[in-house]
Parts: sequence; structure tokens; C-alpha cells
Amino acid sequence: MKVLHIGATIGLIGGGQLASMMSIAAARLGFRTVVLSPEKNCSAARTTNEHIVAAYDNHAALEHLAQLCDVITYEFENIPITTLDYLALNTTVAPPPFALAVAQNRFIEKKFLGECGIATAPWWFIEDRETLDAALIACGGKGILKSCFFGYDGKGQVHITKNSEDTIRMALETIGHVPAILEGFVDFSKEISVIAARGRLKDVVFFDVPENIHQAGILRTSIVPAAVSPEVIKTAREITATILHTLNYIGVIAVEFFVKADGSIFANEFAPRVHNSGHWTEATCIISQFEQHIRAIAGWSLGIPLRHSDCIMENIIGDDINKTPEILQQPGTFIHLYGKEEIRLGRKMGHIIHITHTQE
Ligand code: AMP
Repeated sequence: MKVLHIGATIGLIGGGQLASMMSIAAARLGFRTVVLSPEKNCSAARTTNEHIVAAYDNHAALEHLAQLCDVITYEFENIPITTLDYLALNTTVAPPPFALAVAQNRFIEKKFLGECGIATAPWWFIEDRETLDAALIACGGKGILKSCFFGYDGKGQVHITKNSEDTIRMALETIGHVPAILEGFVDFSKEISVIAARGRLKDVVFFDVPENIHQAGILRTSIVPAAVSPEVIKTAREITATILHTLNYIGVIAVEFFVKADGSIFANEFAPRVHNSGHWTEATCIISQFEQHIRAIAGWSLGIPLRHSDCIMENIIGDDINKTPEILQQPGTFIHLYGKEEIRLGRKMGHIIHITHTQE
């Protein structure tokens, strides 16, 4: 892992808000950025030095990106793994492509977590009606069917609450008869995530832990700090460190957990990238998750992400963006809009961070 010089160029695959926020952080540290994404008017096009408009599997474009960049990172899971492998032939890709290969396939991810000795919800691999029938019997007749690939923000998921012919047929149809897992419901009292970074020297640094509230599978709110015991935080951080070291990871990672009322915790999934549940770091920490990620992939020292305020982060989803004039008048409220032209139902348009308490 090399150490980038000031003025070096960082490649970003994907052009959404995460790439945009990474470009802003990179610019603050004196780097240039090049974004590769197929959408011309993407969020990150506003904030990057250069934008290669091309499909993720366009080899000529990937070669051009590799030539321009000293290191390449990515903002989402659904990039073809062959794209990262191809780039890794000519340049450094961080986090390592293997981390993406694990995270982008729920079956591989659950298997990986199990092999690391990490507790998850009970799960079964589903390839057809027969395997689903057997899993439902083992699971007590209900569970969540999740497609292995392309699942995010609640997509590719169906809740099966009764073991009936119609429900099962509809569930398989909804996910398109693709390989999937069936997961047992976890009766959690809270959802939390650990946002952490691992650097060139294998050092691991943690942010404080947010409590996350989802609606229809989409993150709506993160409350910082989460009201969970120090033991829960310690265990969640130890699990995160195990994942980071096992993957020989470089960069920021987010690991999502279910916490039960008795304090037991189950890993749900991890994202090998900066994460929506870490956006609050932008307004309340000395070092944001975006800066931390750029520092890590540049081989620079990680920052100690001291937090000076408690806060609540809320996503601005769909036409909530029309409330911007009122939000601007709320005291102690930070706003970040992603510059997306089209308002769509369920689309993340920006976020706000309300400061709830500042430490003395
Ligand atoms: P996921 O895409 O796996 O992160 O799921 C999105 C959201 O659905 C989670 O944040 C939970 O709120 C809910 N969920 C997912 N899996 C389970 C589960 N096994 N038990 C209960 N709730 C779940």
C-alpha cells in the first residue's frame, strides 16, 4: 500500500452522494478525483475534478481511469467484481476487491460471518421452491427472503409471515426466482452500526456508535450516541475489528447489527464503504467518515474521530426536499443536499443533522 503525495489523484467508481462526499473530503486534503459512472448528471459530477461517463464494464474507460489514478475506491456494492479485478491488475484498489465480493452476495457474506465465528440471524440458502419449503419448516414458517445479489434499501426482500402456497409463490416471484437466502426474524430492540476504518499500518479506529431507524428497509434516522450498554459497543467493535483484519481491509467499513433486549447482538451485514449511518460524522466529528476513508486509502495516518456533539441525522427522502426552506430556519441544523435533479419516491435527496447536545 503506497503513501499518496499531496496532489495525487483518487478514482471513485459510482457517482452518487457517497462519491460526491468522498470527492469533497479528498479536495480538502489536497487530492484530485476522477469519477467513473454511467450517469452524466450524477451527484458527484458537481464535486469531482473529472468525470468519465461510461458503463462499469467498459474496459477502455477502466483503463483510462487506471492511468489517471494513484488509487481507486468505490461507493456501492453492485459493481461487477470483474471491474475491480480488472482495475487491480494495473493500480491499487481499496478496500480490497475481495471485501466487495463478499459483501455483494448475501450468501457468501453470511457464510463469511459464520466462518469468522460471528453470530447472525439463522439463515438458509434458497435456490428453488424445494429449498424454500424446507427452510420455512426449519424456520418456524416465517422469515425474510432476501435475494443474494442487488439487495439494498429493502430491495430484493420479501417478508414471509405465513407458510401458505400463495405467499410462497408470490415471494419467489417478487425476487424473480434468483438465488436467495431465507433469514429468521430477529426480535431486536435496536439496530446499531459500527463505522470504523483500518489503515495501512493495520490500525483500526472506531467512530461512536449510532442507533439506526429504518422504514420500509430504508434508513430514515441515526441517533448518536446509541442508547446501548458499553458491553454491546465493545462486542460490536470487536466483531468489526475481526471482519477488518480477516479481509486485510483498507478504508472505512460499516457493520450493521441487531441488538436484542437481553444485550445479545447479531451482525446483519457489512458495507465495504462509507455509509449512510455515518453521515452525522460530517457535522459532529473532527474527522468525518469521508475524510477517514480518504486518509486510509491514501496510506495517510488515520484521524482520531473525536465527537463534540450528540445529534440526530435524518435523511431527506423524495419530496421531503420541498421542506428545505423550513429546515434552513431550524437552529442547530446542518443540511447537505445531493443536487439530484429528479425527485423520486424513496430517493435519498440529502440529509440533515440536528445538534441535540454539545459537550462542554
Ligand atoms: P437489510 O437489507 O438486510 O439491511 O435489511 C433492511 C432492514 O430490514 C434492516 O435494517 C432491518 O430493519 C430489517 N431486517 C432485515 N433482516 C431482518 C431480520 N432477520 N429480522 C428482523 N428484521 C430484519
